[in-house]
Amino acid sequence: MKNNSHNYSPESLMMSYGYKPELSEGAIKPPIFQTSTFVFKTAEEGKAFFEVAYGLRSKGENEEQGLIYSRINNPNLEILENRLCLWDRSDDCAVFESGMSAISTVLMEFLKPGDLLVYSSPVYGGTDHFINHLLPRIGVESVGIRADHNKKDIIEMIEATGKADKLAMIYLETPANPTNAVMDISMCREIGDMYKTEEKEVILAVDNTYMGPIWCHPMEHGAHLVIYSATKYIGGHSDLIAGAVLGKQEHMNRVKILRTFLGNMASPNTCWLLTRSLETLKIRMDQQMQNAKAVAQKFRDHDMITKVHYLDLLEPNSRSYDIYKRQYSSPGAMISIEIKGGEAEAFKFLNALNLFKLAVSLGGTESLAQHPCSMTHAGVDPIAKIQMGITENLVRLSIGIENESDLIWDIEQALESIKNMSVRM
Ligand SMILES: *Cc1c(COP(=O)(O)O)cnc(C)c1O
Repeated sequence: MKNNSHNYSPESLMMSYGYKPELSEGAIKPPIFQTSTFVFKTAEEGKAFFEVAYGLRSKGENEEQGLIYSRINNPNLEILENRLCLWDRSDDCAVFESGMSAISTVLMEFLKPGDLLVYSSPVYGGTDHFINHLLPRIGVESVGIRADHNKKDIIEMIEATGKADKLAMIYLETPANPTNAVMDISMCREIGDMYKTEEKEVILAVDNTYMGPIWCHPMEHGAHLVIYSATKYIGGHSDLIAGAVLGKQEHMNRVKILRTFLGNMASPNTCWLLTRSLETLKIRMDQQMQNAKAVAQKFRDHDMITKVHYLDLLEPNSRSYDIYKRQYSSPGAMISIEIKGGEAEAFKFLNALNLFKLAVSLGGTESLAQHPCSMTHAGVDPIAKIQMGITENLVRLSIGIENESDLIWDIEQALESIKNMSVRM
């Protein structure tokens, strides 16, 4: 008999958890279950599987959801979801074909016509579009809050809508893409709880793409749902698009049923790639963070940079610093820098980078740079954009796993090229 009593850390379980080799000819790794449907042993079994999948009755004590059809479930999807649950210590997880499908499914499941949504800004450009262009069409009003608003400000903003009794969800993205602004998750839970009633909860959903699932566990701070673009750190190799939602069983049942009917689950192949990525998730993210720390330190006082936005450089004892220390176990691996000058100088810098690739997305093994104002956040309202700090000289860097001195060399030479530009003019 093997001794199984030890409580393993998630990184120790990423190679094996939730997979039984004996069900797959002893293969050490799960095969890709490239199948659309599954054969039932009996008609009674098929009926029982559907009852659970469609929420007609809840699962029995030791009952497992049986395999029916790959839009509802598939072994690759299930193994991946079980492993993701370990990091955030959640009851259940649903993996989607993109981060946007995870986000839009959550917004559609928990909001209905007449409801009020509070959301942090800036948010990812796609999320911003969904909230400001799609949700109004189904009668959902929203109000944006920022990191510089305190509890009193936020309550006043909710009351000013005249729809405080209709508050149904608070949606946070923290640290925010692309400014690294941090929102206080537990404070937002307190605000949400002020407006809950016997009939309705106020759902707190947190997009944890920048910090998760390693350096922040939003459910520990009061979030009901945690959302990821798994395209980023979780996938980590810039070769797939996927998303995930995690939370308590009661909320996840709702998310999974809507996913079944929208049909926006990830494919077996994507799930298999993500399962492989999870094996190296922690060492990749730790290395990316070490490199980011070195880059941020090196350039904090550079004469061609007016500001470096990185959590480790926050003013000690500021409100943001307190949130950073309370919510996160690392400063992360995303840095935004303000180049001295405007768009022309920022573009000169971007065009001169060599090892850094000029591309949107983030969290992959290779370092990337982009210009949020004209790229990821091009669609955001121009006035709001400035209020959020998405200025024309802002460049966002996603730090990869390369050698740190090579990254520093590349940034240094690209900054030098801006100086040469002004000489020529
Ligand atoms: C990329 C991203 C998304 C959208 O995810 P996709 O996988 O591209 O659909 C959502 N939130 C954040 C913070 C992101 O960086």
